[in-house]
Amino acid sequence: MDAPLPTLRIALPVPLPQLFDYLPPEGPAPDVVVGCRIRVPFGPRELVGVVVEQGSADPAASLRQALTWLDPAPLLQAELWHSLQWLARYTHAPLGEVLSTALPGPLRHGEPMPETHHWGWQLSADGREQRGSLRAGSRPRQLAELLADAVVDEDVIAARMDDWRTAARSLAKRGLAERVALAVAPLQASPLGGPTLNPEQANAVQAITAAQGFAPFLLDGVTGSGKTEVYLQAIIQCLAQGRQALVLVPEIGLTPQTLARFRGRLGIAVHAFHSGLNDNERARVWAAASRGEARVIVGTRSAIFMPLPEAGLLIVDEEHDNSYKQQDGIRYHARDFALVRAKALGIPVVLGSATPAMETLHNAHAGRFTHLRLKVRAGDAMPPRVRILDVRKRPLRDGLSPQVLEGIAEHLRNGQQVLVFKNRRGYAPVLLCHDCGWTAPCQRCDAPMTVHGAGRRLQCHHCGARQAAPLACPACASLALQPQGIGTERLEEHLAQAFPDVPVLRIDRSTTSRRDALEQQLARLGDQPGILVGTQILAKGHDLPKLTLVVVVGIDEGLFSSDFRATEKLAQQLIQVAGRAGRARDPGEVWLQTHHPGHPLLETLVNGGYHPFAAAELNQRQAAGFPPFAHLALLRAEAQQVEHANAFLLAVRALVGEQPHLEAFGPMPAPMPRRAGYQRTQLLLSSAQRPALHAVLDHVAPLLQGLPEARKVRWSLDVDPVDLY
Ligand code: ADP
Ligand code: ZN
Ligand code: ZN
Repeated sequence: MDAPLPTLRIALPVPLPQLFDYLPPEGPAPDVVVGCRIRVPFGPRELVGVVVEQGSADPAASLRQALTWLDPAPLLQAELWHSLQWLARYTHAPLGEVLSTALPGPLRHGEPMPETHHWGWQLSADGREQRGSLRAGSRPRQLAELLADAVVDEDVIAARMDDWRTAARSLAKRGLAERVALAVAPLQASPLGGPTLNPEQANAVQAITAAQGFAPFLLDGVTGSGKTEVYLQAIIQCLAQGRQALVLVPEIGLTPQTLARFRGRLGIAVHAFHSGLNDNERARVWAAASRGEARVIVGTRSAIFMPLPEAGLLIVDEEHDNSYKQQDGIRYHARDFALVRAKALGIPVVLGSATPAMETLHNAHAGRFTHLRLKVRAGDAMPPRVRILDVRKRPLRDGLSPQVLEGIAEHLRNGQQVLVFKNRRGYAPVLLCHDCGWTAPCQRCDAPMTVHGAGRRLQCHHCGARQAAPLACPACASLALQPQGIGTERLEEHLAQAFPDVPVLRIDRSTTSRRDALEQQLARLGDQPGILVGTQILAKGHDLPKLTLVVVVGIDEGLFSSDFRATEKLAQQLIQVAGRAGRARDPGEVWLQTHHPGHPLLETLVNGGYHPFAAAELNQRQAAGFPPFAHLALLRAEAQQVEHANAFLLAVRALVGEQPHLEAFGPMPAPMPRRAGYQRTQLLLSSAQRPALHAVLDHVAPLLQGLPEARKVRWSLDVDPVDLY
C-alpha cells in the first residue's frame, strides 16, 4: 500500500459549505502554509483560496494539484484568522466566502500585498553641487530648487508642479536626483489641545483607559455630549501605549469633517477606509494596518476586517446604526463582530450612541457592558426644546402648516438656519387618480412608484425601475392624476417659493450620491441663513452651529408600522435629528408636526427622552418574545413562481423538524411579497436561547445548497436579521 500524500485543505470563494482538498503546488512552500493564499484550478476556472489546514489523502484519490503559492507568509493570521473562522460558523456561511468578503478586492483576486510606503525625491551629491548651473527657469531647475533642502514627498511635489515626472526623470538620468522610499509616518501622536473634559467625560476616559484586557463599554451620551472627545482622549492614550486604534463610523458619518477632526487632534496619520476609495487604495490601507504602519484607522462597516497586529482599542460610533449590518452576501454585523474581535484581542471596545440599540441596552442592563453615561451637552450648548404641533384639522400646504412656515420665517429673520426633516425622498410617495383611485404601481414589485421631477417621472425605490408619469389614468383615462403625499422634492419646491431670498438645499440620496457633494453644499451655505430639506442623511455627522430650528414633517407613517423594530428606528431618528439643533451657543428648537399628538411614543420621547422610551420598548419586546429576548434567523427565498420559493422553505422546515426551545414561522410571504419580478417568501426561526438556534443551523445550513428544491430558488440565510424584509 502506498503512503498517504500530503494535501492542503483550502477555503474557496464558492457557495458550497465544504473545504477543498488539493495536492500542494510544485516548488517550495512557505514556512507556514495556513493562512496563505493559493491559486487552484476549479472546474474550468482558476480560483484564489486560502489554506485552512494540512491533510493527507490516499494516492488513489486522484486529487488535483494547486497551481501557485501567492504569499510568502500567511496573509491571514493570529486573531483575525480565528475571528473570521468564528464569523463563518456564526453566519453559517462558507468560510471561503467570508474570507473573500473580508479581503479588499486586489488581495481577494490574488495580487501581492501592495507597497505602503510613500516615495519621495532627493538631490544626489552631484545634484546639490550642480543645482545652480541648471538652466534658469527650466523645469529641472525648478524641481531641483524644490528639492534643495530635503527629501520631498511625491504628493507634495505634485501639488507644487505640473508634469514634474518628466523633470524628475531628466534629473535622474543625469545622476542629479534619485527616488527614495520614505520612512513610515511617525508612530507617536503629537496630540493638539482639545477642550478640558467635563467630569462625566473624564470619568468615561478614565474607565476606558484603565481597562485591562477585554472590556466592553456602552458610551451612552446625549447628542452633543462630547462622545467624540472621549474617543479622541482614549485613542491618544492607546497610541501612547504603542497600540493601534480602529474607529467604525456609519457610512454617512464618515465625512471629511470627521476625518479632519481626528487628524487635527491626534497629530498623526489617520487612515480612512470607506466605499469612496478605489480597490487599490483600500488594499493599501489594509496592508498598512497589517504591517502596523497604520496606527489609527477610521472606517465604515467593512473596516471591521482590518488586521490589527498591535490592537489597543476598538470604537463603534453610532453603534445603533443599521448600516453596520451587511444586507447581502455575508450578512455580518460589524458592531457584533467588533465585540468578538475585541474579546479575542483582549482589548477594550467602546460602543457609542445617543440612542443605543435595544440589544446593546439589554446587554448593559444585564451587566455584560459597562454603562457610561454622558447626560449633559458639552460646553455651553443647551438641550433643544421639543414641541409637538398638532396639525389635525389644520390646513397643510404641501405638508407644511402655517405655524411651521411662520416659525421658519422667524428663525431666518434672526439670521439662523432651519432643517426640515422628512424621511422620504422624491416628490411624492404615490401618483393617484383622483377619479377612480388608481395608483401607479411598479410592474415588478408590490409597491407604488415614487413620483419624482415635480410629477413628471416615476421611480421605484425598491428595484430602481423608472418611467415617465402617464398623462392620463391608464384605468379610466381621467386627467386628474395627482401626486399624493410628501417627499423631500416637494418640500424643497414649496419652501423655495415661500422663501425666495434664502438658499434652500435639498439633501438626500438623490442629491448626494457623490461622497463630497454634501460637504460642498454645506460649505456653500456657510453661516448664512438658509433652509436644509432632507432625509436622515442630515441626521448625523455634521456640526451646523447656525442651525436652531428642526422641523420634523410626516412621522406618522412610522408610528403604525408592522415591523417590530419600526418604533425603535423612529425614536432613534427623531432623537438624532433633534440633536442637530442648537449645537452651538444659540438655543435650539425642535417641532414635531403630527396628526397623533397623543401617541405614547411621542409623549414618552418628548417628556422623558430616549431612556424612558427604551425601557417601555424593552418591556414590550420581552412580552412579545422579540429580540433582544429572542434570537432570530431568517431564511429568505425568491423565485419566479411562489410555489418554488415555498417548496424550498417547506423542505427546510422539514429538515429543521420539531426542536425543543425553537419556533419556526412560515413559509410566509415576505413583507414585500414581490420585488424586481421575484416572488419572495420567508421562514423565520426563533429561540429564546442562542445555542438552541445555532445547534439547528449547524445541522441544517450545510444541507441547504444540496436540496433539490434549492435549484429554482435564490435563497439566503440571515442570522440576527435587523430587517425582516
Ligand atoms: P458627540 O460626539 O457626543 O455628538 P462631540 O464630541 O462632537 O459630541 O461634541 C460636541 C461639541 O462640543 C463639539 O463641538 C466639541 O468640540 C464640543 N465639546 C466636546 N467636549 C467639550 C468640553 N469638555 N468642553 C467644551 N466643548 C466640548
Ligand atoms: Zn382613474
Ligand atoms: Zn420595483
